[in-house]
Amino acid sequence: MPRERSLSVRVLGPFGGSAPGCRLTSFLIGSEAALDAGALTEALPLPAQRRLRRVFLTHAHFDHIASLPFLAANIHGRAGVSLEILAPEPVLEAVRRHVFNDATWPDFTRFPSVKRPTIRYRALEEGRTLRAGGLEVTPYAVNHVVPTFGYVISTGTSAAVFSGDTGPTERLWVAARRAPNVQAIFLECSFSDGEERLAADSQHLTPRLVSQELPKLPQRVPVYLYHVKPFSLPRIRREIRALAEPRLKLLEGEKTIRL
Ligand SMILES: [Zn+2]
Ligand SMILES: [Zn+2]
Repeated sequence: MPRERSLSVRVLGPFGGSAPGCRLTSFLIGSEAALDAGALTEALPLPAQRRLRRVFLTHAHFDHIASLPFLAANIHGRAGVSLEILAPEPVLEAVRRHVFNDATWPDFTRFPSVKRPTIRYRALEEGRTLRAGGLEVTPYAVNHVVPTFGYVISTGTSAAVFSGDTGPTERLWVAARRAPNVQAIFLECSFSDGEERLAADSQHLTPRLVSQELPKLPQRVPVYLYHVKPFSLPRIRREIRALAEPRLKLLEGEKTIRL
């Protein structure tokens, strides 16, 4: 019998915009991995930041990487351990070119030394599983205005699916339906139904579009909605309630979910 290993997902930041009480998108997976880095340095005390070994990125939009420069500065000089930044190559390329470029922020892949840098990039391949730190992590392309990837993350006995920023999508849900032991789905819901035009233009979801995605998802699994734009929160809250769909749970603050 394989040993049961639970998957702990700590929602550090469930929002797609920044305001007091609304932290940008960041999840802590176990104690050594993060998914997206909108608010890691605001949410995690320094010792917890220094325990991080890898940060998986869904895409390079600012609300998902905003804390990455400050995280690199905080862990700079950590003895002998680099922080891995993992994503498919187009995402890494944007981070390399626009963030750690020696113009907007130092290139921490060369500091303190090229041999023992503060950060290293590790390219993932779509649909291919990486095993690291007790996790099996697989990215799948979703539909957003820049290259963006959802993830299936599993301990082998428990799995969770993260949509990333996306409009209506298919490939991730095919993988999610096939993946064993999926116990939670984290699905973006950025705008209210009245903003559906804006959601379509920026490739995001609204409560109505979420309800259309639901039949494609693994069934009987809780669906945690995140990436709400703070100004849309009151309307989204009402619209989600009106759907009367017991699987849907709107994330509005920090929360630890053990799977
Ligand atoms: Zn976003
Ligand atoms: Zn985005």
